[in-house]
Amino acid sequence: MAASASTPPPPPGKIHVFWHEGMLAHDTGNGVFDTGEDPGFLDVLEKHPENSDRVRNMVSILKKGPISPFITWHSGRSALLSELLSFHCPEYINELVEADRQGGKALCSGTFLNPGSWDAALLAAGTALSAMKYVLDGHAEIAYALVRPPGHHAQPTQADGYCFLNNAGLAVHLALNSGCAKVAVIDIDVHYGNGTAEGFYQSDKVLTISLHMNHGSWGPSHPQNGSIDELGEGEGFGYNLNIPLPNGSGDKAYGYAMTELVVPAIERFEPDMLVLVIGQDSSAFDPNGRQCLTMEGYREIGKMVSSLANRCSGGRLLIVQEGGYHVTYSAYCLHATLEGVLDLLLPLLSDPIACYPEDESFSVEVIETIKKYQKDNVPFMKGA
Ligand SMILES: [Zn+2]
Repeated sequence: MAASASTPPPPPGKIHVFWHEGMLAHDTGNGVFDTGEDPGFLDVLEKHPENSDRVRNMVSILKKGPISPFITWHSGRSALLSELLSFHCPEYINELVEADRQGGKALCSGTFLNPGSWDAALLAAGTALSAMKYVLDGHAEIAYALVRPPGHHAQPTQADGYCFLNNAGLAVHLALNSGCAKVAVIDIDVHYGNGTAEGFYQSDKVLTISLHMNHGSWGPSHPQNGSIDELGEGEGFGYNLNIPLPNGSGDKAYGYAMTELVVPAIERFEPDMLVLVIGQDSSAFDPNGRQCLTMEGYREIGKMVSSLANRCSGGRLLIVQEGGYHVTYSAYCLHATLEGVLDLLLPLLSDPIACYPEDESFSVEVIETIKKYQKDNVPFMKGA
């Protein structure tokens, strides 16, 4: 139902944010972008893109920005090693524990477990679990796990793309083990949520949907392509839907993909829990992405997902933080996403820098092609 001018604002504290400042201790170092390398001829070496500054701004904009009255804060916690085994294999967890004991290790390209990193990773995983539990226990409908290091590239057996533990995947297992029959995950980070997809690739209980730029495989730590034909296996066939969008896709293209592909799939799947995996690296200004979302696009996605949750999962929605590397704009886009989730009548915060033009015609063509492919190949979407 559309809100009218007389609709009172949602009650304060509607979004429950789970956070722990111990996650700031993960120090990814300096170098040429994310390589950790000093070529010897640059006077200024920048921070690794997955640095604590980006998250400090996300915390502060939610504490001091205009959305602050709508937010209730909760402390996160460390995950127990035993809790990690719902998603990860014991050999991989032992590798991480051993790497930490030995003072650190570069696990794969750009992914450095340094002193302090393992404790931060355990906090990220535990904080995501606490946020999910809060919703499962009926204390709130909407929780947001503001966590780093990120998780959606972490696979059951290996690290990838700045990620060690799959925070969202662990939360999904907690939901399944707590009586949820079906969970749906919508991942709008600019990169393919390959770790989450891999973890549930053979399951028909978890529908994983990822919208991402068409970056393909990026090496042995990320063998998945994120292409439309990676549909899942066995019982899970059809329950991993990839939506690789052309570079330059922006607000209109993402809105079209949500309307044409994501919403119909979630409605057919009928989950009893919805997880929104967010990365602000799909924004127009991110150094790690080539997509063009602005605050307005993020706000619309937030609205659509909130409306889906209201229709499908009794309003229950867990939001999990992933990437987003522009230190300022990521915070603004997070603010806009949560404004959308609150379904506010008017924006609370205007966009300080959006100016990128968008030509959505090619993206729309690609989305139509994906739609036809899914109708022909995905059993539960046939005839949609
Ligand atoms: Zn990303």
